Amino acid sequence: MEGSIESRVSHEVDNWLRWVPRWRPGTHRGRARLCRQCFGSPIVAAAGLATDVPHAVQHALSMRMKLVIDASVDEYTDRNLPLLSRELRLNEARKASTEYRPAEGLEPEFKGLDLDPPAAPDAPYLFTFGELANAEEPVDVQPPPPQLSLEEKAAIRAELKLADDYAILVGKRVCAELAEHRERIHRAVSEYVEPQVKALLADLESALDSPLWPSSG
Ligand SMILES: [Zn+2]
Repeated sequence: MEGSIESRVSHEVDNWLRWVPRWRPGTHRGRARLCRQCFGSPIVAAAGLATDVPHAVQHALSMRMKLVIDASVDEYTDRNLPLLSRELRLNEARKASTEYRPAEGLEPEFKGLDLDPPAAPDAPYLFTFGELANAEEPVDVQPPPPQLSLEEKAAIRAELKLADDYAILVGKRVCAELAEHRERIHRAVSEYVEPQVKALLADLESALDSPLWPSSG
């Protein structure tokens, strides 16, 4: 990913805007737990998506901003934190040698969401991607990584702290930048999301008003 934070945020907002018209309610089943990526997220708030916006719509944007932040932190790490980059590279190489992981390589809109659609009652799945993703780590056939000395561990921890600090800094810049895009984000929500949510609520209301649901009183 090339360019400044400004251009990257703008580019990912563009991508999100291209995706929003394809959003439909109920594309994803409701979650039993709160999404750690979106709940209370300063990014979702900075984009003006914190209230009355379906989670899938928030999630798609927050994952795209996470891409921007992760890419910046990766570059910073590559440039300035040699020990940490080496550890990450070794870790990647170990991971690459293992098996298929259904939760990886997904489009940002789908990351962190449930992997499987709800099963039809008459046609249960033989196995699900969720089970596959949660399956035990395959036995690593590679030799174990060399033991690090206490000094090396301390040095890596110090670099990790720098990377964390940098991630916070980039996160703040992304939030500041998102504020510049609030208007077009808001326009897309009014145009593509709100009418669908309203239609859904109207359907629900007319279902409740129907003679099948006699009003009490
Ligand atoms: Zn989310």
